[in-house]
Formats: sequence, structure tokens, C-alpha cells
Amino acid sequence: MIDFTQMTIHGLRDLLKNGEITSVELVESLLARVDALDDKIKSFIRIDREAALAMAKESDCRRATNSELSPYDGIPIGIKDCICVKDDYVSCASQILEPVVSPYDSTAVSRLKAKGFIPFGRLNMDEFAMGSSCENSSFQKTANPFDLERVPGGSSGGSAASVAARLVPAALGSDTGGSIRQPAAFCGIVGVKPTYGLVSRYGLVAFASSLDQIGPMTLDVEDSAIILETIAGNDKMDSTSLPIENNTLDYSSIFSKLPDNLNGVKVGIPKEYFEADGLAPAVKQAALDAVEKLKKLGAEIVNIELPHTKYAVAVYYIIATAEASANLARFDGIRYGRRVEGKDLVDTYFASRGQGFGEEVQRRILLGTYVLSSGYYDAYYLKAQKVRTLIRRDFEKAAELCDVIFTPVTPDVAFKFGAKSDPLSMYLSDIFTIALNLSGNCGLSLPVALDSESGMPIGMQFIAPALQERKLFEVAGVFEKYGVGAKFAPAE
Ligand code: GLN
Repeated sequence: MIDFTQMTIHGLRDLLKNGEITSVELVESLLARVDALDDKIKSFIRIDREAALAMAKESDCRRATNSELSPYDGIPIGIKDCICVKDDYVSCASQILEPVVSPYDSTAVSRLKAKGFIPFGRLNMDEFAMGSSCENSSFQKTANPFDLERVPGGSSGGSAASVAARLVPAALGSDTGGSIRQPAAFCGIVGVKPTYGLVSRYGLVAFASSLDQIGPMTLDVEDSAIILETIAGNDKMDSTSLPIENNTLDYSSIFSKLPDNLNGVKVGIPKEYFEADGLAPAVKQAALDAVEKLKKLGAEIVNIELPHTKYAVAVYYIIATAEASANLARFDGIRYGRRVEGKDLVDTYFASRGQGFGEEVQRRILLGTYVLSSGYYDAYYLKAQKVRTLIRRDFEKAAELCDVIFTPVTPDVAFKFGAKSDPLSMYLSDIFTIALNLSGNCGLSLPVALDSESGMPIGMQFIAPALQERKLFEVAGVFEKYGVGAKFAPAE
């Protein structure tokens, strides 16, 4: 029997190995759970049930003949709707891509399939990953499983909600400015934004190409390590993929010999993140309590500064919108997706894009086109690139003083639907996550407590220098086990 509250990938691996469950039973029970619970949560846009069950059957056959592809063969994983799975719909929760079927697998998905993981459903998101609440989806509003009146975060809100509600053991998300870590924090799960270039972007519908990364969203740190080592590595299909020898990445072996302390680990505490305007008292208290626990575990706390953090949101909304305006130019109603016929070609472009894109996406295309236009390029785009370098240097300097940095993920817990109706207040909810997309560092969001007033989860973020994911998993793994010591599940 599956205990859904404990449904980790490493737990399912052992159940499958010992013959206590089959992959078909697992997929069938998840589908039944989705039927029972997802009417209210609305995390999945669609699930190709037949395909998932067919893959589960194949997996069980492999296991019966001891030819499983890996210990994880037969485990389902949810996929954010901007990551391509061959022969399945890919819509980025946008009307303009209704209906488009992907002719190929993204590299991340093909690597998961090569280990026997089963892509399970398309998960809701903010349209083209632009947003922090999933309210920008053109299909449905996903609810936070901890409180159905609150948002799950975004843009990977469907991924976070489905994992938190135990509808699927893990999911892929994408993170351009916080879209994995923020919803993970809002829904009480673990999420990782890998080092830029560690995971191939091939088959990820581009939002802002110099920032986007695919990453895992899971119930615990070990599961994130398992997924990340599966999907990471060099890929000739992505020119920004880092030259890492494939099959050399090993993160999950840490967990068989995890230390019980953090002796000798230097943890940097950036004052800009602990004294930020708008930091809710409950989140600040949880952060300070967590720092005390880090100390108790033997970590050395180092006060550091990241002085250019205050420009991160402004820089991000110039660079990300500039890149988005170029990337989204390809959606013109001609080559694929939804076409609205106009009186001539240009009119068809206008009609298709005007009706196909939602309000937030249109806002960003306009903003991005503006900052790139002649006369404004130097004042905005070029300036933003220079400040981006300063932000990166902040992190490089910090790395001389500490092994990892520790911060809150979000200024407050998950908010209610409609609470952030003006775009700026929504943009400001990402102040703690955006800087490391600009710098390229890796970051992990880990649930540490429930807010006593609202009952909502609170997440903290560990940040490490580029390609130090192993360190990130080790420190977060020790802290999860000996500092937090609890998992957070919504009431059923
Ligand atoms: N919330 C941020 C935005 O709206 C980040 C989104 C993301 O990481 N995809 O752009």
C-alpha cells in the first residue's frame, strides 16, 4: 500500500524494488487521487491517462525480466506545461498555443524517460511562465492545497500544488526569476533552481533565455538530488549548456552517508535579505529561528553583504522582458498555434497575437520591445546588463567568505487570490529569488515551518556558487533532517 503522505521517489523506488507495488498500481492510484482531489486544486491542465498507463505496463514488464532502466523505472513525474513531451500537448497555459502537440521530447524529459520515469500530465502555470501566482494562466486558477483561497505561487504553481497534494511524487518546473523556489515555498515542498547551463533548455519554451532553467520540485531534498542528477549535463542541442562530462554528476549518493552536523560549514547571512522592506514578521522570525538551528548544528554564521540586491527586480524586468519580446516574436499565428484571420498578413499577426496572448504577456512584450528600441537601448537594456554584472560580483565576493548563503524565499506566505492585482506588487514578491537567476548561481527552497496564524508553509533558500549543487544538497539535506525534522502536508 502507498502511504501518500510519505510518497517520496526514494520511498517508491524501494516499494517497487521489493515488489510491494507495481508501476501500474501506482499510476492507477495517482489517477484516482487526481479524480478525487484535483477538481478543487486544479493543478493539472490535462493528463494522457492511456499513455501513462501504457508506460507503466512496459515498466512492469521490464522489472519482471530484471531489465529495468534504473531503480526509478516506473515512477511518474508531473511536467510543467512549458516543457515538451513528444506527442503531448504543450501550451504554456496560453491560448496562442491551443492546440499544439510537441513533435519531440525536451532533453530533460528524454533523460527522465531513459531512466524509466513516466511523464504524468501537464501542469498549470502562469502564461509563458510570467507571474508569481498562477493567476495568469489562460485556462484555470490553481489553488494552494494548504488553503484553497490562496494562490500556490508561480509560475510553476501547478507543479508545486500537485506535489504538495501528493497527486504525483515529483514534478519538473522552470525558474526564470523564482518560478520553482517561490511556489515550492508557498506549498511546503522542495524546489531547486540549478546553475545556469547545468540543465539543457532544449524543449523548454523560451521565456528569457539567459535566465531560464528547468529544475526539480519534490517532497524532500534527496528526491530533488535524484531528479537533478538525471536531467543535468551537457547537451549539444543547447548552446548555453555547460561543458560538463555527462554521467559524472552524482548528488544522491550524499544521502547514504549524510553527516549529522554542519561543522565547518560557513553560512552567509546577507543583511539585505533579512532587513528588506515588506518582510512579514512571521517569515523573519522563521528565518531567525532557522539561523539559530544552523548554529546549533555547528555551522559558522558569517554576516555578508549583497549590496546590489536592491536593483535586482528592476534589472530583471528589463532583461527578462527584452528577451521575452524577442522569443515570443515566433508566435505569429502562421507557423503553429492559434490563427485569427485578418484582412491581410499584418492584420492576421495583430489579431492572432492580440487575442492569443493574455494581458500580462502583452505588457511584457511591449515593455521589452521598448527597452530594446533605438534611443532607449543604452539607457535601459545596456545599463541593466552592467548592473547585472555588479550583482554577479556581489555573489562572487560573498563566495570568498562563505560556502552557502541562507535567506528567506518570499517576503510573506502565500497570498489570497486577487490580493496582488497591480503588477508592481506582484513583481515585488520575487525580491529574494531573482538575483541568483541574474548571477547564474544555484538555489534551493526548503520548507522550514508553518505560520502559526495562517497555517501556511514558510520556505528558506540556500544559495551556492555555480556548479556547487552537491554542497547545496548536502547542507540542505542535513538541515532538513536535523534542523527542521518534519514534512509539511496539507490536511486532506
Ligand atoms: N515571477 C517572475 C516573473 O513573473 C518569475 C517567473 C519565472 O521564474 N518564470 O517573471
